[in-house]
Amino acid sequence: MGDTATTRWQATPDLPLRPAAFYRTLNPVEIGMHLMRTWSPLGTRAFMLIAAWGIWEFAAPDLTRAQSFAVGWMAQIWIRNIVLVAVVASALHWWLWMRMAQQDLRYDTRPMGKNKRLFLFDDQVKDNLTLTLGSAMLIGTLWESVGWWAYANDIAPMITWDENPIWFVALFLLVPAWSIAYFSVTHWLLHRGPAYTHVHSWHHKNVNVGPWSGLAMHPLEHVALYADVLLFLVLPAHPVHFLFAMMHHSLGAPMSHTGHDALRLPGGFRFELGDFFHQLHHRFIECNYGGPESPLDTAINAWHDGTEEGEQATAARRRQLSAAKRAR
Ligand SMILES: [Zn+2]
Ligand SMILES: [Zn+2]
Repeated sequence: MGDTATTRWQATPDLPLRPAAFYRTLNPVEIGMHLMRTWSPLGTRAFMLIAAWGIWEFAAPDLTRAQSFAVGWMAQIWIRNIVLVAVVASALHWWLWMRMAQQDLRYDTRPMGKNKRLFLFDDQVKDNLTLTLGSAMLIGTLWESVGWWAYANDIAPMITWDENPIWFVALFLLVPAWSIAYFSVTHWLLHRGPAYTHVHSWHHKNVNVGPWSGLAMHPLEHVALYADVLLFLVLPAHPVHFLFAMMHHSLGAPMSHTGHDALRLPGGFRFELGDFFHQLHHRFIECNYGGPESPLDTAINAWHDGTEEGEQATAARRRQLSAAKRAR
């Protein structure tokens, strides 16, 4: 790891990082503020919802065609996914990592890795691009196709707005909760034993991260990551909810790995895409497996709050984990 522990951050959000309001308090004002922040129109969640809606309106397969698996409609989904991710991740990469437009909001000042044998083509960005546009988009498309096939054949239970508007809206709150809960547990399991050595270590080649690092992982991890949409085989929902869940990976991962605390917009506005909590995970590894909206890290004592004390607690945890490994 070398210099990792001694390299200070250039920018951070307000520290210490704290779990989401609903884990700390029953105060409705604080909980309301949390919801307003996470659902801000200038934030990733709203963006993913708009993308899901746009896909449903303009770029979803015809359900009559999706009754059986066929290259035609699946290839259309594949191309749409590649274009969508390429546009979002390239725009962020160009602005933040090539133009270097807002250095003051950058967490870690170290550059993307070049001439490092660790990465495919010895280059972090090329490695990340290949794994994202190659493996992630292919596997994400296969999972998405299973969803459309299940809706087309009445295997996945479908609801509509007219039938059940309250459940329709409630599902938009439930999807992010499910997504983070599923991610926390699978991600934590991927840190154990051979799953880490052979699979998840690919994602952790990225100590500092950029937009293309979000989906840079072993193909088996793509299979596990997108598998959370299997929920829709049993949960009554609309395809727009299913697409919203898909977007948590295809767009959520690139947006949460930009390495910057926000995207500065004209007129003094900020688009909130920073994920310092996960940036800490990339640097210190054995901490912050979930997110502020997941109870996992507090429950297993792996919460790194971004402060000096958090760093010491994580160092102690790492020593414990390696001692336990040696004892086995
Ligand atoms: Zn990890
Ligand atoms: Zn990551």
